[in-house]
Amino acid sequence: MTAAVSTTCPYCGVGCGVRATVTGARTVEIAGDPGHPANGGRLCSKGTHLGETVGLEGRLLHPMIGDRRATWDEAMDVIARRFSHAAARVGPDSVAFYVSGQILTEDYYVANKLMKGFIGSGNIDTNSRLCMSSAVSAHLRAFGEDVVPACYDDLDQADLIVLVGSNTAWCHPIVWQRIEAARAARGTRLVVIDPRRTETADLADLHLALRPGSDVALFNGLLAALSARNALDPAYLAAHVAVPDGFWHRVIADSDPARTAATCDLPRADLETFFDLVAAFPRTVTLFSQGVNQSTQGTDKANAIINVHLATGRIGKPGAAPFSITGQPNAMGGREVGGLASTLAAHMDFAAENVDRVGRFWNAPHMATGPGLKAVDLFQAVGEGRIKALWIMATNPAVSMPDAGAVRAALATCPFVVVSDVMADTDTGRFAHVRLPATAWGEKDGTVTNSERMISRQRPFFPPPGEARPDWRALADVAGRMGHRAAFGWRSVAEVFDEHSRLTAFENDGARQLDLSPLIGLDETGYGALQPTRWGSVRAFADGRFSTADGRARMVAVTQAPLAANAMTLNTGRYRDQWHTMSRTGLSPRLSQHRREPLVEIHPDDAVRLGLVENHLATATTAQGCSVFRVSVTDAQRRGEAFVPIHWTDRTGSGGRAGLLPDASVDPVSGQPGFKLTAMTLSRLETEWRAFLIVRGTRAIAPDCVWWAAAAVAGGRLVELAGDGDPAVLEALLPNGERMTAVDRARGSLRTAVLNEGRLQGALFVARGGSLPGRDWLIAQLSEAAAPAGLLAGRAPGQTVDRGPIVCACFDVGARTILAAIAAQSLTTVTEVGTALSAGTNCGSCRPAIAKLIAA
Ligand code: SF4
Repeated sequence: MTAAVSTTCPYCGVGCGVRATVTGARTVEIAGDPGHPANGGRLCSKGTHLGETVGLEGRLLHPMIGDRRATWDEAMDVIARRFSHAAARVGPDSVAFYVSGQILTEDYYVANKLMKGFIGSGNIDTNSRLCMSSAVSAHLRAFGEDVVPACYDDLDQADLIVLVGSNTAWCHPIVWQRIEAARAARGTRLVVIDPRRTETADLADLHLALRPGSDVALFNGLLAALSARNALDPAYLAAHVAVPDGFWHRVIADSDPARTAATCDLPRADLETFFDLVAAFPRTVTLFSQGVNQSTQGTDKANAIINVHLATGRIGKPGAAPFSITGQPNAMGGREVGGLASTLAAHMDFAAENVDRVGRFWNAPHMATGPGLKAVDLFQAVGEGRIKALWIMATNPAVSMPDAGAVRAALATCPFVVVSDVMADTDTGRFAHVRLPATAWGEKDGTVTNSERMISRQRPFFPPPGEARPDWRALADVAGRMGHRAAFGWRSVAEVFDEHSRLTAFENDGARQLDLSPLIGLDETGYGALQPTRWGSVRAFADGRFSTADGRARMVAVTQAPLAANAMTLNTGRYRDQWHTMSRTGLSPRLSQHRREPLVEIHPDDAVRLGLVENHLATATTAQGCSVFRVSVTDAQRRGEAFVPIHWTDRTGSGGRAGLLPDASVDPVSGQPGFKLTAMTLSRLETEWRAFLIVRGTRAIAPDCVWWAAAAVAGGRLVELAGDGDPAVLEALLPNGERMTAVDRARGSLRTAVLNEGRLQGALFVARGGSLPGRDWLIAQLSEAAAPAGLLAGRAPGQTVDRGPIVCACFDVGARTILAAIAAQSLTTVTEVGTALSAGTNCGSCRPAIAKLIAA
C-alpha cells in the first residue's frame, strides 16, 4: 500500500477533497480529505464509492481511426489536417470544439486558446452551457463579472437558507450536510422552492411547490413585499446599486401578493410566511441551481433572485449572498478560462480592447473577434452542414442535449467528428471518425475550481492505461501540427496553469476579480503541492464595489414570461447516486441499487386519469420524440407534471432516454436550454411478458425486445426486460453452461438458470402474468462459490424476507428493513436508525430518505 494521494472528487461542483490510497494495480481505497475546506472529510455516496469506478472495464485504450486501431501520430496528423483544411477552405467558423465541465482547467485553457486565438473562431462551447450558463449571464448583468459572491461558510452562518430549484440533498449532498448541521447548531430556517416535493423539500420548514417556471413572479413578489415591509436597504442601494428608471413602480404594480399567489399557484398564507421569513432574517443565503438555470427564462430568474439580495444589501456579508451552485466538477474552471462560446478568456468578453489584450498575450495570429456558437446553435449548425470538423471532449451530446434525436442526425452528417473519451463505446462515440483515449479520474493531473471559487488539484495515483493521454497534450500536439508549435510548447501541466494564471493578471489592474497573481510562478514542486486556494476575497463584493465601469451593481428589470397550460408537463433531472450518463457511476453495483431503472414519476390523480398504476410501463411522447419509462406514482409530484431522470443511454437501456424529449428552445440571453417545461403525453405500454436476466461479468448486453434497462450488480449485471412474442429467444443472452429450466405453459412462465462447475453464471425469469421473484437473493448467488438449491424458485428454500428498495447504499440497507426496525424498536430519529442498522451513518446521502420513512 502506498501513501494516500490528496485529490478532488470528479463529480459535482461541491468539489470535495478525497484521499486515495492505492491498494493494487487498479484498486484504491477512498476517504474524504479532512483537510479540504469544501468537505472536511465527508463524502456523499458517489464520492464514497469512487473506488468501484476505477477499473478498466469498457475503457478506450488506443486511438482509433474508424474501426481501426491507430497510432497517436496518425490520429494527430489526420485531426490537424482536417481542421486546418476546413478552416482554410471554408473559414474558421466551420470548425468547433464541444468540451465539458469534466475536463480540467488546463485542458480547457488549451482548447480555448487554440480555438479563439489560433484557429480564429469563437466556436468552443461546453456542456456547462446546459448546466449553469444562465447564472453566468445573470452575474454578468448584475455584477459586471461572472463571480459567485458566496462561500460555503455562509451556509454555516445564515439564519435563513432559501433553496430554489435545487434538490440539494441528492445533487450536492455535502452542501446539504452543512445545511443540516447549521439547522441543528443554530436553528437556521430552511425554505425550499421547487415544484416537486423532493427529499430536500420534505425536510424544509416551508416548501413552496410553485407552478413550474413562475420563479420570476415569485421573486418580484418577494421584492415588492420586502418594500412594503420596509425591509430594503436604501443606504446600500444608494451607495452601490444602479436601479433602472421606473423599476420600483413596475415591480410594485405587477406584484401584489394575491396576484403572485395566483401566478405561482401557491397558497397565499404560505407566500406571506415566506415573505415574513425573508424580511426577518438579514442573514439569508439563496442557493440556486438547475431548477432555475434550465429554463428559457433562466437568466431572468437568476436576476430576480439577485435583485432581492442587492435591494436588501444582503451580499458580500457573512451568511448573506445569492449562491449559484454548479452541477459539474469544473464548470467554474471552464468559466474562468473562457470555455464558453460567449466569453473570450480570463473573464474578458469580446470587446475590442480585450481581443487586443488577449491577442498580444497569446501572440495569437488569428484572434476570434466575436462570440461563437452556443451548444444548441452549434449542433444545429452541424445539422445544417455549416460545421465541417467537430471535436467533442468528455461529454455525450447524443444523449444529453435537448432534442437528442436531432443531435444524432446532425452528428451522422458531419464530415469529421473527433471524440476524446475514457470509454470505448458511447452513444456519441459511434459517430466519431477519430476516437482518442483520454485519461480518467485517478490518472488526470491538473486543477478544478468548485462552486465557491476554490481551486483544488486533481492528482493522479494511477499511470495512464494503454495509450491514454491528457486532453491538453492532445490539443497542444494538434496545435503544433497546425503550425503553432511555439505557442503550445508547454513541457508540463504546471506550465499551462502558470500561463493561465498570468493571463488572468495581465493588464488586469483591478478590473476583474479573477486575478491569479498569487499563483504565478509556481514551479513543478509548488504546483504539485498546491493546496486548495480560493481566488478573490472570501466574500466577493464585500466592499460594495462591483466589476462594472462605475463600480455599481445593476438591478435588472425582469418580468414573468407567460406560462403555457399543458395537460402534462415534463421535468427532467438527476438521481441521488448517478452522475450524467453513468459512464463511471454506472460501474458501481452499490450506486446502481438506489434506482435500477429509469422511472417516470406522476401524481396519483394523473395515474388514475391515464389508467396507469405503479410498475406499469408507459411511453412518454413529446413533439421531439418518445421514450419508455417504468411508472412510479407519488404525491410528491404536482398534478399534470411528470419527472424523468437524465442518465440512461443506448448502452444502458432501450428506453428512459430523457434527452430525446425536450425541445431545443433556449434562454435568449444565455443560450441555456429549458429542459424543465416540455409538453408531453403519457400512455400505458402493454407487453405480453415481463422478465429479468442476471448474468455474471460485465459484458454489455442489448436484447432485442420492446423494452430493457441494465444495471451493474455485484458480480455481474441485472437486465429488466419486457416484450412480445416468444421470450425463449432471450435464452440466447445467457452464457454457456449447464442449464436448468422450468416451463409452466399454463401460467406462461419460463425460468432458466445456467451453472458452470456449480457456480451460477446467469438466470432468466419470464412471466406472462403474475409476479416475478425478487432479484436480490438471485443476484447474491453470483458472488457465491456454489449455487444453492432453490435457484428456479428465485429464493432460498423457506426464505421470504424482502429488504425492499435500497435506501442506504453504503451499508446495503433496504426500505423494508428500516421500516421493520422503526416499528419493532420504536425508533424516532435518523440517529436511532443509524445506531440500530448503521444506515445513514457513513456518507449521509440517505438521511433524508430515512427521515421520510420515520415520518411515514
Ligand atoms: S458532494 Fe459528493 S459528488 Fe459532490 S464533490 Fe462531494 S463527494 Fe463528490
